[in-house]
Amino acid sequence: MQDLHITPADMPPECERLRQEVRAFLADEMPAYSKADRAKNWTGKDQAFSKKLAARGWIGMTWPKKYGGAERSNLERYVMLEEMLAVGAPVGFHWVADRQSGPLLMRHSPEVLAPRIVPRIVRGELAFCIGMSEPDSGSDLASIRTKANKVEGGWSISGRKVWTSGADMADYMIALVRTRERADDRHAGMSQLLVDVKNAKGLEIRTIQTQLGGQSFCECTFDDVFVPDEHLIGEEGQGWKQVTGELKFERSGPERFLSSSQLLLEMLDAGDPGDLPQATAIGRIVAQYASLRQMSQGVALMMARGEDPATATSVVKDQGALLEQSLPDIAHDLFADSMDRASDLAQVLDYLTLSAPSFSLRGGTREILRGIIARGLGLR
Ligand SMILES: Cc1cc2nc3c(=O)[nH]c(=O)nc-3n(C[C@H](O)[C@H](O)[C@H](O)COP(=O)(O)OP(=O)(O)OC[C@H]3O[C@@H](n4cnc5c(N)ncnc54)[C@H](O)[C@@H]3O)c2cc1C
Repeated sequence: MQDLHITPADMPPECERLRQEVRAFLADEMPAYSKADRAKNWTGKDQAFSKKLAARGWIGMTWPKKYGGAERSNLERYVMLEEMLAVGAPVGFHWVADRQSGPLLMRHSPEVLAPRIVPRIVRGELAFCIGMSEPDSGSDLASIRTKANKVEGGWSISGRKVWTSGADMADYMIALVRTRERADDRHAGMSQLLVDVKNAKGLEIRTIQTQLGGQSFCECTFDDVFVPDEHLIGEEGQGWKQVTGELKFERSGPERFLSSSQLLLEMLDAGDPGDLPQATAIGRIVAQYASLRQMSQGVALMMARGEDPATATSVVKDQGALLEQSLPDIAHDLFADSMDRASDLAQVLDYLTLSAPSFSLRGGTREILRGIIARGLGLR
Protein backbone atom coordinates (compact mmCIF):
# COMPACT_ATOMS: atom_id res chain seq x y z
CA MET A 1 0.00 0.00 0.00
CA GLN A 2 1.22 3.48 -0.86
CA ASP A 3 1.13 6.41 1.57
CA LEU A 4 -0.97 9.50 1.04
CA HIS A 5 0.60 12.72 2.28
CA ILE A 6 -1.31 15.97 2.23
CA THR A 7 0.98 18.71 3.47
CA PRO A 8 -0.84 21.59 5.16
CA ALA A 9 -0.15 24.88 3.41
CA ASP A 10 1.45 27.85 5.14
CA MET A 11 -0.53 30.81 3.92
CA PRO A 12 1.84 33.57 2.78
CA PRO A 13 1.19 37.18 3.92
CA GLU A 14 -0.48 38.21 0.64
CA CYS A 15 -3.14 35.56 1.32
CA GLU A 16 -3.96 37.00 4.72
CA ARG A 17 -4.11 40.53 3.26
CA LEU A 18 -6.48 39.28 0.59
CA ARG A 19 -8.59 37.51 3.24
CA GLN A 20 -9.18 40.84 5.01
CA GLU A 21 -10.08 42.50 1.72
CA VAL A 22 -12.58 39.76 0.84
CA ARG A 23 -14.10 39.84 4.34
CA ALA A 24 -14.61 43.61 4.13
CA PHE A 25 -16.31 43.21 0.74
CA LEU A 26 -18.57 40.45 2.05
CA ALA A 27 -19.45 42.41 5.18
CA ASP A 28 -20.91 45.07 2.87
CA GLU A 29 -22.58 42.73 0.41
CA MET A 30 -23.98 39.80 2.35
CA PRO A 31 -26.63 41.56 4.48
CA ALA A 32 -28.68 41.76 1.25
CA TYR A 33 -29.09 37.97 1.22
CA SER A 34 -31.36 36.02 3.58
CA LYS A 35 -29.97 33.11 5.59
CA ALA A 36 -32.12 30.74 3.55
CA ASP A 37 -30.50 32.10 0.37
CA ARG A 38 -27.06 31.75 1.90
CA ALA A 39 -27.80 28.08 2.58
CA LYS A 40 -27.70 27.55 -1.20
CA ASN A 41 -24.04 28.49 -1.04
CA TRP A 42 -22.16 27.93 -4.33
CA THR A 43 -25.32 26.82 -6.10
CA GLY A 44 -26.96 30.22 -5.44
CA LYS A 45 -26.80 32.42 -8.55
CA ASP A 46 -26.73 36.18 -8.91
CA GLN A 47 -25.01 37.55 -11.98
CA ALA A 48 -24.88 41.07 -10.52
CA PHE A 49 -22.88 39.67 -7.60
CA SER A 50 -20.59 37.79 -10.01
CA LYS A 51 -19.94 41.03 -11.86
CA LYS A 52 -18.89 42.69 -8.62
CA LEU A 53 -16.35 39.90 -8.07
CA ALA A 54 -15.21 40.29 -11.67
CA ALA A 55 -14.60 43.99 -11.11
CA ARG A 56 -12.23 43.06 -8.27
CA GLY A 57 -10.37 40.50 -10.35
CA TRP A 58 -11.80 37.57 -8.37
CA ILE A 59 -12.97 35.52 -11.36
CA GLY A 60 -10.16 33.84 -13.28
CA MET A 61 -7.86 35.03 -10.53
CA THR A 62 -4.96 32.73 -11.39
CA TRP A 63 -5.33 32.91 -15.17
CA PRO A 64 -2.87 34.57 -17.55
CA LYS A 65 -3.26 38.29 -18.12
CA LYS A 66 -3.51 37.69 -21.85
CA TYR A 67 -6.92 36.11 -21.20
CA GLY A 68 -7.95 38.84 -18.75
CA GLY A 69 -6.85 36.91 -15.63
CA ALA A 70 -5.08 38.39 -12.62
CA GLU A 71 -2.14 35.93 -12.46
CA ARG A 72 -2.51 35.55 -8.71
CA SER A 73 -1.52 32.38 -6.89
CA ASN A 74 -3.61 29.26 -6.38
CA LEU A 75 -3.46 29.81 -2.62
CA GLU A 76 -4.83 33.34 -2.99
CA ARG A 77 -7.68 31.93 -5.04
CA TYR A 78 -8.24 29.32 -2.35
CA VAL A 79 -8.52 32.01 0.34
CA MET A 80 -11.00 34.03 -1.72
CA LEU A 81 -13.15 30.92 -2.33
CA GLU A 82 -13.02 29.87 1.30
CA GLU A 83 -14.27 33.28 2.45
CA MET A 84 -17.08 33.26 -0.13
CA LEU A 85 -18.23 29.77 0.85
CA ALA A 86 -17.99 30.42 4.58
CA VAL A 87 -20.73 33.06 4.31
CA GLY A 88 -22.75 31.40 1.54
CA ALA A 89 -22.06 34.05 -1.11
CA PRO A 90 -24.11 33.53 -4.33
CA VAL A 91 -21.19 32.57 -6.58
CA GLY A 92 -23.13 30.06 -8.69
CA PHE A 93 -23.43 32.10 -11.89
CA HIS A 94 -19.70 31.94 -12.68
CA TRP A 95 -18.75 28.92 -10.55
CA VAL A 96 -18.48 26.19 -13.19
CA ALA A 97 -16.76 28.49 -15.71
CA ASP A 98 -14.22 29.69 -13.13
CA ARG A 99 -13.57 26.26 -11.66
CA GLN A 100 -13.28 24.08 -14.73
CA SER A 101 -14.51 25.39 -18.11
CA GLY A 102 -12.08 28.32 -18.34
CA PRO A 103 -9.04 26.18 -17.39
CA LEU A 104 -10.17 23.50 -19.87
CA LEU A 105 -10.47 25.99 -22.74
CA MET A 106 -7.09 27.58 -21.96
CA ARG A 107 -5.40 24.20 -21.81
CA HIS A 108 -6.96 22.60 -24.87
CA SER A 109 -7.90 25.49 -27.14
CA PRO A 110 -5.41 28.21 -26.23
CA GLU A 111 -5.38 29.89 -29.65
CA VAL A 112 -8.94 29.54 -30.87
CA LEU A 113 -11.61 29.35 -28.17
CA ALA A 114 -9.81 30.69 -25.10
CA PRO A 115 -9.04 34.18 -26.53
CA ARG A 116 -12.68 34.53 -27.58
CA ILE A 117 -14.44 33.10 -24.53
CA VAL A 118 -12.21 33.31 -21.46
CA PRO A 119 -12.06 37.13 -21.17
CA ARG A 120 -15.86 37.10 -21.07
CA ILE A 121 -15.82 34.57 -18.23
CA VAL A 122 -13.42 36.85 -16.35
CA ARG A 123 -15.84 39.76 -16.82
CA GLY A 124 -18.71 37.75 -15.28
CA GLU A 125 -20.61 37.63 -18.55
CA LEU A 126 -20.86 33.89 -19.16
CA ALA A 127 -22.31 30.91 -17.32
CA PHE A 128 -21.28 27.36 -18.24
CA CYS A 129 -22.83 23.97 -17.64
CA ILE A 130 -21.33 20.48 -17.67
CA GLY A 131 -22.68 18.02 -20.23
CA MET A 132 -21.23 14.74 -19.05
CA SER A 133 -23.94 12.50 -17.49
CA GLU A 134 -26.58 10.74 -19.55
CA PRO A 135 -29.67 8.71 -18.64
CA ASP A 136 -27.68 5.46 -18.46
CA SER A 137 -24.20 6.89 -17.94
CA GLY A 138 -23.31 8.52 -14.65
CA SER A 139 -20.58 6.75 -12.73
CA ASP A 140 -19.73 4.77 -15.83
CA LEU A 141 -19.16 7.88 -17.92
CA ALA A 142 -17.29 5.97 -20.61
CA SER A 143 -20.61 4.39 -21.62
CA ILE A 144 -22.03 7.67 -23.02
CA ARG A 145 -24.02 7.34 -26.23
CA THR A 146 -24.54 10.93 -27.34
CA LYS A 147 -22.95 11.07 -30.78
CA ALA A 148 -21.43 13.79 -32.89
CA ASN A 149 -21.22 12.93 -36.58
CA LYS A 150 -18.80 14.77 -38.83
CA VAL A 151 -20.62 17.06 -41.25
CA GLU A 152 -19.37 19.82 -43.50
CA GLY A 153 -17.87 22.63 -41.42
CA GLY A 154 -18.51 20.97 -38.08
CA TRP A 155 -20.30 18.30 -36.08
CA SER A 156 -23.91 17.25 -35.69
CA ILE A 157 -24.83 16.13 -32.15
CA SER A 158 -27.69 13.76 -31.33
CA GLY A 159 -28.46 12.23 -27.94
CA ARG A 160 -29.43 13.14 -24.40
CA LYS A 161 -27.68 14.59 -21.38
CA VAL A 162 -29.24 14.55 -17.93
CA TRP A 163 -28.71 16.12 -14.49
CA THR A 164 -27.16 19.07 -16.30
CA SER A 165 -27.10 21.69 -13.55
CA GLY A 166 -27.91 25.18 -14.75
CA ALA A 167 -28.36 24.31 -18.45
CA ASP A 168 -31.55 26.40 -18.51
CA MET A 169 -29.55 29.54 -17.72
CA ALA A 170 -26.18 28.70 -19.23
CA ASP A 171 -24.57 30.40 -22.19
CA TYR A 172 -22.33 27.43 -23.00
CA MET A 173 -22.14 23.73 -22.32
CA ILE A 174 -19.02 21.63 -22.64
CA ALA A 175 -20.44 18.35 -23.88
CA LEU A 176 -18.67 15.01 -23.83
CA VAL A 177 -19.74 13.14 -26.96
CA ARG A 178 -18.79 10.11 -28.99
CA THR A 179 -17.18 11.10 -32.28
CA ARG A 180 -16.17 7.55 -33.22
CA GLU A 181 -17.09 4.00 -32.26
CA ARG A 182 -14.19 1.96 -30.96
CA ALA A 183 -15.32 -1.53 -29.95
CA ASP A 184 -11.80 -2.45 -28.79
CA ASP A 185 -11.35 0.51 -26.40
CA ARG A 186 -14.37 2.09 -24.69
CA HIS A 187 -12.31 5.10 -23.56
CA ALA A 188 -11.34 5.98 -27.11
CA GLY A 189 -13.39 7.94 -29.64
CA MET A 190 -14.81 10.56 -27.27
CA SER A 191 -14.42 14.30 -27.74
CA GLN A 192 -15.45 17.52 -26.03
CA LEU A 193 -17.49 20.10 -27.91
CA LEU A 194 -18.42 23.63 -26.93
CA VAL A 195 -22.16 24.14 -27.41
CA ASP A 196 -23.62 27.63 -27.66
CA VAL A 197 -26.67 26.73 -25.57
CA LYS A 198 -28.73 29.85 -26.21
CA ASN A 199 -28.37 29.67 -30.00
CA ALA A 200 -28.27 25.92 -30.65
CA LYS A 201 -31.03 24.84 -33.04
CA GLY A 202 -32.35 21.37 -32.15
CA LEU A 203 -31.38 21.54 -28.47
CA GLU A 204 -34.32 21.13 -26.10
CA ILE A 205 -33.77 21.88 -22.42
CA ARG A 206 -36.29 20.61 -19.91
CA THR A 207 -35.97 21.42 -16.21
CA ILE A 208 -36.39 18.53 -13.77
CA GLN A 209 -38.25 19.10 -10.51
CA THR A 210 -36.35 17.86 -7.49
CA GLN A 211 -37.38 17.75 -3.85
CA LEU A 212 -35.78 21.21 -3.60
CA GLY A 213 -38.40 22.59 -5.96
CA GLY A 214 -37.06 25.18 -8.34
CA GLN A 215 -33.45 24.08 -8.62
CA SER A 216 -32.31 24.21 -12.24
CA PHE A 217 -31.49 20.61 -12.90
CA CYS A 218 -32.03 19.77 -16.58
CA GLU A 219 -32.44 17.16 -19.25
CA CYS A 220 -30.96 18.27 -22.58
CA THR A 221 -32.04 16.57 -25.80
CA PHE A 222 -29.87 17.09 -28.88
CA ASP A 223 -31.52 16.52 -32.22
CA ASP A 224 -28.93 17.13 -34.95
CA VAL A 225 -27.45 20.14 -33.19
CA PHE A 226 -24.77 21.72 -35.36
CA VAL A 227 -21.50 22.79 -33.75
CA PRO A 228 -18.78 24.38 -35.91
CA ASP A 229 -15.33 22.79 -36.30
CA GLU A 230 -13.65 25.44 -34.17
CA HIS A 231 -15.83 24.38 -31.22
CA LEU A 232 -13.98 21.07 -30.95
CA ILE A 233 -12.01 21.42 -27.71
CA GLY A 234 -8.58 19.84 -27.89
CA GLU A 235 -8.10 16.82 -30.07
CA GLU A 236 -10.78 14.67 -31.61
CA GLY A 237 -10.81 11.32 -29.78
CA GLN A 238 -8.97 12.63 -26.68
CA GLY A 239 -12.15 13.49 -24.76
CA TRP A 240 -11.68 10.86 -22.07
CA LYS A 241 -8.21 12.07 -21.12
CA GLN A 242 -9.41 15.68 -21.15
CA VAL A 243 -12.52 14.98 -19.09
CA THR A 244 -10.63 13.11 -16.37
CA GLY A 245 -8.32 16.14 -16.12
CA GLU A 246 -11.39 18.39 -15.86
CA LEU A 247 -12.88 16.24 -13.09
CA LYS A 248 -9.81 16.89 -10.95
CA PHE A 249 -10.69 20.60 -11.03
CA GLU A 250 -14.35 19.75 -10.36
CA ARG A 251 -13.53 17.76 -7.24
CA SER A 252 -10.66 19.78 -5.86
CA GLY A 253 -12.15 22.88 -4.27
CA PRO A 254 -13.24 23.87 -0.75
CA GLU A 255 -16.89 23.68 -1.86
CA ARG A 256 -16.60 19.96 -1.23
CA PHE A 257 -16.66 20.52 2.52
CA LEU A 258 -17.97 24.08 2.89
CA SER A 259 -21.38 23.97 1.26
CA SER A 260 -23.32 23.60 4.54
CA SER A 261 -21.46 26.27 6.50
CA GLN A 262 -24.63 28.31 7.05
CA LEU A 263 -26.11 25.49 9.10
CA LEU A 264 -23.10 25.44 11.40
CA LEU A 265 -23.36 29.24 11.80
CA GLU A 266 -27.06 28.96 12.67
CA MET A 267 -26.31 26.18 15.18
CA LEU A 268 -23.66 28.36 16.78
CA ASP A 269 -26.14 31.25 17.02
CA ALA A 270 -28.91 29.09 18.45
CA GLY A 271 -26.67 27.08 20.76
CA ASP A 272 -26.30 27.52 24.51
CA PRO A 273 -22.60 27.36 25.48
CA GLY A 274 -23.63 25.99 28.88
CA ASP A 275 -25.43 23.03 27.33
CA LEU A 276 -22.90 20.20 27.35
CA PRO A 277 -24.47 17.95 24.66
CA GLN A 278 -24.75 20.95 22.32
CA ALA A 279 -21.23 22.17 23.03
CA THR A 280 -19.82 18.66 22.56
CA ALA A 281 -21.61 18.03 19.28
CA ILE A 282 -20.76 21.45 17.83
CA GLY A 283 -17.16 21.18 19.06
CA ARG A 284 -16.80 17.87 17.22
CA ILE A 285 -18.11 19.41 14.02
CA VAL A 286 -15.73 22.36 14.28
CA ALA A 287 -12.78 19.99 14.85
CA GLN A 288 -13.73 18.05 11.71
CA TYR A 289 -14.00 21.27 9.72
CA ALA A 290 -10.54 22.26 10.93
CA SER A 291 -9.01 18.96 9.71
CA LEU A 292 -10.79 19.12 6.37
CA ARG A 293 -9.70 22.72 5.92
CA GLN A 294 -6.06 21.79 6.39
CA MET A 295 -6.43 18.94 3.92
CA SER A 296 -8.23 21.12 1.41
CA GLN A 297 -5.56 23.82 1.67
CA GLY A 298 -2.99 21.07 1.14
CA VAL A 299 -4.77 20.09 -2.08
CA ALA A 300 -4.60 23.73 -3.25
CA LEU A 301 -0.86 23.65 -2.54
CA MET A 302 -0.46 20.40 -4.52
CA MET A 303 -2.25 21.99 -7.48
CA ALA A 304 -0.06 25.09 -7.21
CA ARG A 305 3.01 22.83 -7.40
CA GLY A 306 1.63 20.98 -10.41
CA GLU A 307 1.29 17.68 -8.48
CA ASP A 308 -1.52 15.23 -9.30
CA PRO A 309 -4.19 15.79 -6.61
CA ALA A 310 -6.60 13.00 -7.67
CA THR A 311 -6.30 10.80 -4.57
CA ALA A 312 -6.14 13.71 -2.13
CA THR A 313 -9.14 15.50 -3.68
CA SER A 314 -11.16 12.30 -3.51
CA VAL A 315 -10.38 11.94 0.20
CA VAL A 316 -11.42 15.54 0.90
CA LYS A 317 -14.60 15.24 -1.16
CA ASP A 318 -15.55 11.92 0.44
CA GLN A 319 -14.88 13.06 4.00
CA GLY A 320 -16.38 16.50 3.31
CA ALA A 321 -19.62 14.94 2.09
CA LEU A 322 -19.75 12.66 5.14
CA LEU A 323 -19.40 15.62 7.50
CA GLU A 324 -21.86 17.82 5.64
CA GLN A 325 -24.44 15.07 5.35
CA SER A 326 -24.27 14.47 9.09
CA LEU A 327 -25.08 18.10 9.99
CA PRO A 328 -28.86 18.17 9.37
CA ASP A 329 -29.39 15.13 11.63
CA ILE A 330 -27.20 16.59 14.36
CA ALA A 331 -28.99 19.96 14.14
CA HIS A 332 -32.33 18.20 14.25
CA ASP A 333 -31.38 16.13 17.31
CA LEU A 334 -30.06 19.19 19.16
CA PHE A 335 -32.63 21.83 18.27
CA ALA A 336 -35.84 20.33 16.86
CA ASP A 337 -37.72 20.44 20.17
CA SER A 338 -36.96 24.10 20.88
CA MET A 339 -36.86 25.45 17.33
CA ASP A 340 -39.15 28.22 16.12
CA ARG A 341 -40.37 27.08 12.68
CA ALA A 342 -40.03 30.64 11.32
CA SER A 343 -36.42 30.98 12.49
CA ASP A 344 -33.38 31.19 10.22
CA LEU A 345 -32.16 27.92 11.75
CA ALA A 346 -35.37 26.13 10.73
CA GLN A 347 -35.23 27.48 7.17
CA VAL A 348 -31.57 26.64 6.68
CA LEU A 349 -32.08 23.21 8.24
CA ASP A 350 -35.07 22.51 5.98
CA TYR A 351 -33.05 23.42 2.89
CA LEU A 352 -30.02 21.34 3.84
CA THR A 353 -32.11 18.35 4.92
CA LEU A 354 -33.43 18.23 1.37
CA SER A 355 -30.17 19.06 -0.46
CA ALA A 356 -27.58 17.12 1.57
CA PRO A 357 -28.37 13.67 0.09
CA SER A 358 -27.04 14.95 -3.26
CA PHE A 359 -23.61 15.86 -1.81
CA SER A 360 -22.34 12.30 -2.20
CA LEU A 361 -23.66 12.07 -5.77
CA ARG A 362 -22.74 15.35 -7.50
CA GLY A 363 -19.21 15.43 -8.86
CA GLY A 364 -18.84 11.64 -8.46
CA THR A 365 -20.47 9.24 -6.00
CA ARG A 366 -19.00 8.04 -2.73
CA GLU A 367 -18.32 4.55 -4.13
CA ILE A 368 -16.57 5.93 -7.21
CA LEU A 369 -14.39 8.25 -5.12
CA ARG A 370 -13.45 5.43 -2.79
CA GLY A 371 -12.49 3.38 -5.83
CA ILE A 372 -10.18 6.22 -6.93
CA ILE A 373 -8.68 6.42 -3.43
CA ALA A 374 -8.09 2.65 -3.39
CA ARG A 375 -6.37 2.87 -6.77
CA GLY A 376 -4.27 5.83 -5.63
CA LEU A 377 -3.14 3.86 -2.58
CA GLY A 378 -2.22 0.89 -4.74
CA LEU A 379 -5.00 -1.30 -3.32
CA ARG A 380 -6.70 -2.12 -6.62
C1 LIG B 1 -26.86 17.83 -7.44
C2 LIG B 1 -26.30 17.14 -8.65
C3 LIG B 1 -25.79 17.91 -9.67
C4 LIG B 1 -25.29 17.27 -10.83
N1 LIG B 1 -24.84 18.07 -11.84
C5 LIG B 1 -24.38 17.48 -12.98
C6 LIG B 1 -23.96 18.30 -14.07
O1 LIG B 1 -24.02 19.53 -14.01
N2 LIG B 1 -23.51 17.68 -15.19
C7 LIG B 1 -23.43 16.32 -15.28
O2 LIG B 1 -22.96 15.84 -16.31
N3 LIG B 1 -23.84 15.52 -14.27
C8 LIG B 1 -24.33 16.08 -13.12
N4 LIG B 1 -24.76 15.28 -12.08
C9 LIG B 1 -24.79 13.85 -12.27
C10 LIG B 1 -23.79 13.11 -11.39
O3 LIG B 1 -22.48 13.25 -11.88
C11 LIG B 1 -24.24 11.65 -11.39
O4 LIG B 1 -25.47 11.59 -10.67
C12 LIG B 1 -23.26 10.74 -10.73
O5 LIG B 1 -22.08 10.64 -11.50
C13 LIG B 1 -23.85 9.31 -10.52
O6 LIG B 1 -24.37 8.83 -11.71
P1 LIG B 1 -25.85 8.20 -11.74
O7 LIG B 1 -26.78 9.19 -11.13
O8 LIG B 1 -26.12 7.76 -13.13
O9 LIG B 1 -25.80 6.96 -10.76
P2 LIG B 1 -25.18 5.53 -11.09
O10 LIG B 1 -23.89 5.68 -11.78
O11 LIG B 1 -26.24 4.72 -11.75
O12 LIG B 1 -24.92 4.99 -9.64
C14 LIG B 1 -25.96 4.45 -8.81
C15 LIG B 1 -25.30 3.90 -7.57
O13 LIG B 1 -24.44 2.80 -7.91
C16 LIG B 1 -23.13 3.04 -7.42
N5 LIG B 1 -22.14 2.56 -8.37
C17 LIG B 1 -22.11 2.79 -9.70
N6 LIG B 1 -21.02 2.22 -10.25
C18 LIG B 1 -20.34 1.62 -9.24
C19 LIG B 1 -19.12 0.88 -9.18
N7 LIG B 1 -18.39 0.65 -10.25
N8 LIG B 1 -18.72 0.45 -7.96
C20 LIG B 1 -19.46 0.68 -6.85
N9 LIG B 1 -20.62 1.37 -6.86
C21 LIG B 1 -21.06 1.84 -8.04
C22 LIG B 1 -23.02 4.54 -7.28
O14 LIG B 1 -22.03 4.89 -6.33
C23 LIG B 1 -24.43 4.91 -6.83
O15 LIG B 1 -24.57 4.74 -5.46
C24 LIG B 1 -25.27 15.87 -10.92
C25 LIG B 1 -25.78 15.09 -9.88
C26 LIG B 1 -26.31 15.71 -8.77
C27 LIG B 1 -26.88 14.86 -7.67
